[in-house]
Amino acid sequence: MSAGNLSRFWEWGRKIICVGRNYAEHAKELQNAVPAEPLLFLKPPSAYVREGSPILVPFYSGQLHHEVELGVVIGKGGSAIPRSAAMEHVAGYALCLDMTARDVQDECKSKGLPWTLAKAFDTSCPVSEFVPKERIPEPGDVRLWLKVNDQLRQSGSTSQMIFPIPYLISYISDFITLEEGDLILTGTPEGVSAVRKHDRLQAGIEGIVTMTFTVDTKDRR
Ligand code: MG
Repeated sequence: MSAGNLSRFWEWGRKIICVGRNYAEHAKELQNAVPAEPLLFLKPPSAYVREGSPILVPFYSGQLHHEVELGVVIGKGGSAIPRSAAMEHVAGYALCLDMTARDVQDECKSKGLPWTLAKAFDTSCPVSEFVPKERIPEPGDVRLWLKVNDQLRQSGSTSQMIFPIPYLISYISDFITLEEGDLILTGTPEGVSAVRKHDRLQAGIEGIVTMTFTVDTKDRR
């Protein structure tokens, strides 16, 4: 992949770093404490799915939740990035879903186990087209929305984030080197709910981009 062309960042095979509980109302709806520091987890590049392909319910889950999130695409890598320079590392954005097997996550949480099978399975990261950073001059103040079968389920502004984008980039880069083509999922506003086979998910960054996915099931093999 030629340097500088991130319009198909999902093909770069770079890492997906996710932030949990970054909106207070969502933390509360799942009976979680509002965090004092960002909570991080990862998805592998194999989690990506694009419009035209379905989101697959994992065979081991009976409760697949949608979480609509603003994705930040890294254009310039770095580590220990100061907050003041963080936005210089951003190439653009994407609308993302952090698909979550909530029943599996609840079991992992109660047993103190990692969330991998709840968060990192195939098709757990649907993404929109790439949005160059110039098209979102104020990423800290855009509205995200999600409908299931034409019913509005999630609607929230990125201004409600507990840890804003520059804070997240700086914080993550203290632990994990950021590379060109990486994607950061910045957390979801409240309203998460379960989806099932044949459901139609539409989501958008208001005035910028929309995307549509259908849900299917995946057999064990
Ligand atoms: Mg999430």
